[in-house]
Amino acid sequence: MTERISTLLPGEVLVFVDLSCGEIDETARGVLSEASRLAGRLGCGWSAISFAGAGSETIEEMAPYGVQKVTLIESAPGVADSLEAQGRLLAQASSELGATLVLLPHNDLGGTLAPLVTSQLKAALFTEAISYEEHEAGLKMSRRVLGEQVAETKVWDGTSPLVLTMSPLVLSAVVLPAMRRGEAQVAWWRPSAPVAAGASRILERIPPDPQTVDVSEAEVMVSVGLGCDKETFEQVRELTRLLNASLGVTRPVYDLGFAGFERMVGQTGKTVAPRFYLALGISGSMHHLGGIKDSKRIVAVNLDPKAPIFPNSDEAFVADLRHVLPLLVERVKSAVGGAA
Ligand SMILES: Cc1cc2nc3c(=O)[nH]c(=O)nc-3n(C[C@H](O)[C@H](O)[C@H](O)COP(=O)(O)OP(=O)(O)OC[C@H]3O[C@@H](n4cnc5c(N)ncnc54)[C@H](O)[C@@H]3O)c2cc1C
Repeated sequence: MTERISTLLPGEVLVFVDLSCGEIDETARGVLSEASRLAGRLGCGWSAISFAGAGSETIEEMAPYGVQKVTLIESAPGVADSLEAQGRLLAQASSELGATLVLLPHNDLGGTLAPLVTSQLKAALFTEAISYEEHEAGLKMSRRVLGEQVAETKVWDGTSPLVLTMSPLVLSAVVLPAMRRGEAQVAWWRPSAPVAAGASRILERIPPDPQTVDVSEAEVMVSVGLGCDKETFEQVRELTRLLNASLGVTRPVYDLGFAGFERMVGQTGKTVAPRFYLALGISGSMHHLGGIKDSKRIVAVNLDPKAPIFPNSDEAFVADLRHVLPLLVERVKSAVGGAA
């Protein structure tokens, strides 16, 4: 099967790594990891591309992901804050480098660049993929649509380039065991003719506020269930502020009116995949667990040692929230210097 796909692929997978904050973050690690897996599936080579600006240490951090070549796009001043220009540059570079598949993370930048690159390359576009697999006609990709209720599947037959964005929900920063420490060779790429800036400009990239970010994008979550009362719920709110975390609730807590529908996690609510999920006073019904199973680390606190959340957690603490929360809030306050 892989042989068939690789015969359809004259080029390689080119992964766009967003280094605009000057360093390699979880999303960048995740997309590098994914590129290696995808190229392995397709039986072709892969390399990374980014806009110039990252230091050599950042490039070194990419090497464990198996990347052997990192192309840095050089551009004139003023182009770096133009999305249209970035899209044109990325498309030109991808075409010259012979990329058949351009992979991007579906973050704010990747999600905006993808259609721009697609139109320049006259490529096929598939966004927010959550999975892909080999198919007799090419590569079968899936994503969730209509409020995550429906799975949409498409097959790319390899006859035109593909721009593919991966949902951050499935990007895992884990270095695959097969990858070895090595060195990534750096190459510079310049456009043959100056690229004009577009009509829109990036004025500022504001990091998401954990208090308001969509819980499906949250990195660190503190979620609370019916084990709370009004007083402990306020303590949980304070804890989320101190930890810069996002608040989640179970359905009964939403029903009580303690938080809005957009904070509800589970089958009816949102599916989440944070790095850290702290479940406070949550029993662990299947309707709730279904929405948190992709969390990287789950820590649960519950009065009941037999609560179903415990076998589904990485760490479990049998404790009363009324005792634990004030202590936890105080401990975190002193650790962060009282800054809320
Ligand atoms: C079709 C359908 C869809 C649903 N969708 C969702 C959904 O999207 N999300 C969702 O969450 N639920 C959903 N539910 C509801 C779900 O079945 C459960 O009823 C719900 O998840 C339970 O919430 P809970 O854990 O907060 O409450 P409970 O099950 O009542 O658990 C409360 C827990 O708190 C513990 N506790 C009590 N006091 C303390 C204390 N002082 N300190 C520490 N622990 C304490 C108890 O031991 C208990 O384990 C759905 C149900 C249906 C039928």
